Amino acid sequence: MKSVYAGKGLPCPKCNKQMHTKRHPQITQKELNKLYYYSQWDVCNDCRHLQHYEEYKVYNKNMQIYINSKEQENNLLDLMRNF
Ligand SMILES: [Zn+2]
Repeated sequence: MKSVYAGKGLPCPKCNKQMHTKRHPQITQKELNKLYYYSQWDVCNDCRHLQHYEEYKVYNKNMQIYINSKEQENNLLDLMRNF
């Protein structure tokens, strides 16, 4: 994963050393093609632990399409059940 250093991170949940915060050098189509990506994350240089945080989760429009189609699917199932 290509990433750039974005500052000091939180203590590592595994070894308690301070992690480094990383982010994408730029958001590319690769990130946009996913349902979501993380705008930043922490990496431990010591034990290589990678920590993602929900608050930095960025949902793409794809996710909306997914939710919509899921809703439609459920509506359709409801219709069929009631038929
Ligand atoms: Zn660690």
